[in-house]
Amino acid sequence: MVFLCQECGNTTNEPESHYLHLKQNHPYSPALTKFYDKRLFKFNDSNFPFAE
Ligand SMILES: [Zn+2]
Repeated sequence: MVFLCQECGNTTNEPESHYLHLKQNHPYSPALTKFYDKRLFKFNDSNFPFAE
């Protein structure tokens, strides 16, 4: 699965990388909020931290 950044066109096949990209580059992107629903993304690391 490829994750496409709607803000800048960046692509990655790693959900963690995509999440971090959004968080670091587009902290206010509405796309970032989707990541708070972990059911939508099969994170490889189940302990992937969401807390600040
Ligand atoms: Zn981006």
